[in-house]
Amino acid sequence: MPQPAPAPEPPPLPLRRLRVVAARRVTPRMQRVTFGGASLDGFVLAGPDQQVKLFFPQPGQAEPVLPVPDPDGDVMRWYGAYSALPEAERPWMRSYTVRAHDPAAGTIDIDFFLHGNGDDSAGEGPATRWARSARPGDAVGMFGPSAAFAMPVDPGAGDWTLLYADACALPALATVVAALPPGQRAVAYVRLSDPAELQPLPTAGDLTVRPRYDDTSAVDTSADAASAVDALRADPLPDGRPYVWLAGEASTVRALRRHLVEERGVDRRSVHFAGYWRRRLTQDDAPTPEDLAEARERLAAG
Ligand SMILES: Cc1cc2nc3c(=O)[nH]c(=O)nc-3n(C[C@H](O)[C@H](O)[C@H](O)COP(=O)(O)OP(=O)(O)OC[C@H]3O[C@@H](n4cnc5c(N)ncnc54)[C@H](O)[C@@H]3O)c2cc1C
Repeated sequence: MPQPAPAPEPPPLPLRRLRVVAARRVTPRMQRVTFGGASLDGFVLAGPDQQVKLFFPQPGQAEPVLPVPDPDGDVMRWYGAYSALPEAERPWMRSYTVRAHDPAAGTIDIDFFLHGNGDDSAGEGPATRWARSARPGDAVGMFGPSAAFAMPVDPGAGDWTLLYADACALPALATVVAALPPGQRAVAYVRLSDPAELQPLPTAGDLTVRPRYDDTSAVDTSADAASAVDALRADPLPDGRPYVWLAGEASTVRALRRHLVEERGVDRRSVHFAGYWRRRLTQDDAPTPEDLAEARERLAAG
């Protein structure tokens, strides 16, 4: 009697090579890139807010150079091999969010917020530079989604849901909003440069979007964070115990969290928060003392 074919071995690490299938602007500053590739076979999204690390090739490389994982899938050893690559060869690594997965087409979408002005003088980073000119056939590497660096998000865990995102966190917020349980009351504070950047946010929840239009890249970090807190402070919050999800510029997210916990009495364990970028620092720069304190608080909150 013929035996069923053995199940394929799972890859030792969630490391994939992807190719651009299509790229288009969904708003003036948001570039949606659709990726495909055989390594997306069997890809599954475990929930909303699924972050990944993308690896972008250096100038002159057609593909990013990526170490081959050991069969035991030891992530730290793989990361050590990646970090040991010569700097001129080592691909840039940046964090992004899977915006959508189309299992039938075998593709995923990632939305890239194009910060900066399209030239290096404004500090545009390699990921944004890559996304601005992405063409079908371009190659990247992707690590994740992985439980190793993702905190599970449950947007229906409170009596109501409070969300905050700036432009680069809007793709993640859209996935969180799409996962709201039917009828769940939610308020999304969205901070964008301009009304043209607001996207439709389909949801089964009872969602109120409170957009605020200003320039989040303004140079004075503390004044910027304070103005975000002032806007929230001025708003009465619905009754009940909220589940809170905050993502965007790191100092602003920390200030909003402090305000909610210390002034509004929100249980710190109900606040999911993530700094997505830091003013004048790239994702290659070392953590600041504030970043380290944030990481400790997150660990302490479980
Ligand atoms: C978990 C997670 C998920 C993320 N998901 C997404 C996503 O789906 N889509 C997305 O667009 N971004 C996302 N980000 C943010 C993205 O990783 C950063 O914006 C990243 O710094 C972009 O890399 P870069 O190479 O363009 O710039 P870098 O080389 O890192 O930085 C270059 C310069 O640009 C500035 N800068 C970086 N990001 C921004 C910004 N957003 N606004 C203004 N100035 C900026 C820096 O301060 C620095 O001066 C996510 C971040 C995290 C941590």
